[in-house]
Amino acid sequence: MKTDAVKKVVIAGGGTAGWIAAATLSKAFGHKLEICLIESDDIPTVGVGEATIPPLLSLHKILELDEREFLASVKGTFKLGIQFENWREQGDQYIHSFGWAGKDSYACGFVNFWLAGLRQGINIPYGDYCVEHLAARLNKFAILPSANLNYAYHFDAGCYAKLLRTHSEKRGVQRIEGKIAQVNTHVHNGFIKELVLESGNVVNGDLFIDCTGFRALLIEQTLHTGFIDWSHWLPCDRAVAVQTEAVGEPIPYTRAIAHEAGWRWRIPLQHRVGNGLVYCSRYLTDEQATEKLLNSIEGEPLNTPRVIQFRTGTRTKHWNKNCVALGLASGFLEPLESTSIHMIQRSVLRLLQLFPSEEILQDSVDEFNAQTSLEVERIRDFIILHYCVTERNDSAFWQHCRTMELPESLRRRIELFKKTGRVFKGDSELFGEESWIQVMLGQGIVPAAHHPFADAMPSGELASFLAKIRESTRNRVGQLPLHADFIAHYCAVQK
Ligand SMILES: Cc1cc2nc3c(=O)[nH]c(=O)nc-3n(C[C@H](O)[C@H](O)[C@H](O)COP(=O)(O)OP(=O)(O)OC[C@H]3O[C@@H](n4cnc5c(N)ncnc54)[C@H](O)[C@@H]3O)c2cc1C
Repeated sequence: MKTDAVKKVVIAGGGTAGWIAAATLSKAFGHKLEICLIESDDIPTVGVGEATIPPLLSLHKILELDEREFLASVKGTFKLGIQFENWREQGDQYIHSFGWAGKDSYACGFVNFWLAGLRQGINIPYGDYCVEHLAARLNKFAILPSANLNYAYHFDAGCYAKLLRTHSEKRGVQRIEGKIAQVNTHVHNGFIKELVLESGNVVNGDLFIDCTGFRALLIEQTLHTGFIDWSHWLPCDRAVAVQTEAVGEPIPYTRAIAHEAGWRWRIPLQHRVGNGLVYCSRYLTDEQATEKLLNSIEGEPLNTPRVIQFRTGTRTKHWNKNCVALGLASGFLEPLESTSIHMIQRSVLRLLQLFPSEEILQDSVDEFNAQTSLEVERIRDFIILHYCVTERNDSAFWQHCRTMELPESLRRRIELFKKTGRVFKGDSELFGEESWIQVMLGQGIVPAAHHPFADAMPSGELASFLAKIRESTRNRVGQLPLHADFIAHYCAVQK
């Protein structure tokens, strides 16, 4: 089907998704592409989404954001991973760090050597072989050529959108303030033609990016694209969030603390802490969840707790006709592994790679959708893993999680690791072997076997190989300053 050439892009919505899209497209095309973004001061952004994962650094390189200025303006801290508390069982904890433990060999991953050591009585936590893990535990951080840590950020979502707005406007993006009241489509092909604002202003375009959050005003309310519901695997459907005063020094990791009907996050920023309780409304009311959250926070609340409703799942198509959905408009997997902002980044870059030379081609649309769906499904599996591999049996929620039928792709992966200690990263997967290993071990799987290659090493040699890695890990972490001291020197917010 022939459509008009794409000369003008209209972004509906100015949360994190809208402004990442605006910043990235304007960086790529500058004034050669007309880009406008519509947002309404009367419709607040979701106001959460403050923990990230390492690939964000590569987006910032593309956008040429100076790291120190960025962190000072978003009041950010560094993140080396997530500490999961009470997930395997109450009182238990482990860290999923962004680092790699030990040294892999050509035949098998380090976990096999660690397992061989375990069977010889060398019972030392897996995380002791990983710099990021140990640094997180000891509250240390620095950017040093000799330490070369894999890290991400915690940031204030409102400040982040503002920063990206400034960059986008400098590169020619036109921001239009106003509420979209109506979306008109072309009669002949159903493509979106124009957005009509409450003011009567009409904004037309060739390609529309739906960043209107859970409302999904274009992709769903207008184009009725459809939604794949994954709530049978990811049953949490609400969160209550509150910001609190910072108490103590910020730690370089997010905390994800399980409770009887979900979990709670704690995200340390320079000036405050973001807190939220994620839950399944079948097992906990909003009032109970709010009370539970307020009983668990450490500093004084800075705002009134706010309940956010969601449904876990994804759009059947992320690009439909001349509309691409980004952010919450494209679906939501719940925030356990901080993957949503990453998916915005991935989809914007994918859109850029498939950006129409002239008109929108169905082949490009299909490719975009196939790649996005595969990526989201793999992330979904990784998140389900945290819930289904557990020894918790203390509530109806956890009973459900322990006994639910799993996606086949996840079931096979868990079985392979359980029986052999092997795990493989598939094509276009976000989470690599090391993430799967850390979470599977953390959730309590001890593989029944390991690769025979690890047994080829004589036992004395294996012990000294493992000891050397632990020593070098300790030495590298030993050079690092405290996280708070590094922030003070590198990117402190100007008071
Ligand atoms: C509880 C929770 C915790 C989360 N935590 C994380 C996390 O730690 N890490 C992470 O990566 N992600 C997280 N996410 C996801 C993350 O918050 C979002 O991916 C991100 O904020 C992008 O949101 P958005 O821009 O799609 O939507 P929103 O922030 O909701 O923005 C929607 C925009 O659309 C505009 N809009 C809507 N309707 C109209 C209209 N009619 N006219 C004009 N404008 C309109 C609004 O004004 C607003 O600007 C979390 C999400 C939830 C729900």
